[in-house]
Parts: sequence; C-alpha cells; structure tokens
Amino acid sequence: MKNTVQIPAGEPAGRVVCSSCGNKTDFVEIAENVLVTTRYVQNVDGSFTPEENDTEVYGEVKFICGQCGEDLTRYHAHFLEMSF
Ligand SMILES: [Zn+2]
Repeated sequence: MKNTVQIPAGEPAGRVVCSSCGNKTDFVEIAENVLVTTRYVQNVDGSFTPEENDTEVYGEVKFICGQCGEDLTRYHAHFLEMSF
C-alpha cells in the first residue's frame, strides 16, 4: 500500500480539482471489502434499535471524480483531512 500524500494545487490552495474534467464539487469515495457490524437492542415490543455501528475496511479505498470517474485516489488522504 502506497502512502504518498499529494496536496492539490487548486485555487484557493488545497481544493481538489479533477484533472480530467475540471469538476471541483462532486466526488465519490468507494471502499472495497467493508465489514459493517451493528449492535441492536430488542425492545419490549419486538422492534430493534441500532446501538452502535462499526465499519472496517479491508480492501482498497478509492476516491474518484463524481462526474467523469477519473481516479483521484492520490488526493484521498487530503480528502480525509478536509472532510468534516
Ligand atoms: Zn472529472
């Protein structure tokens, strides 16, 4: 697994811009082989309420342009830092 962080050089500094179509608003994160574990509590009426939810990613995580599908995974680490 490569660990290079590339900081985008968009305007203003640090904005990711798709190198292929120029899109800077729509992005998609794709996680492969995700294990989602959710704990439930059964209520007296037989219904279930989710208590906590744990997601583990075993595969690759990709970050792509939401418009043309260009692979922007090199910006993924930056995306994680900037996603609130
Ligand atoms: Zn694009």
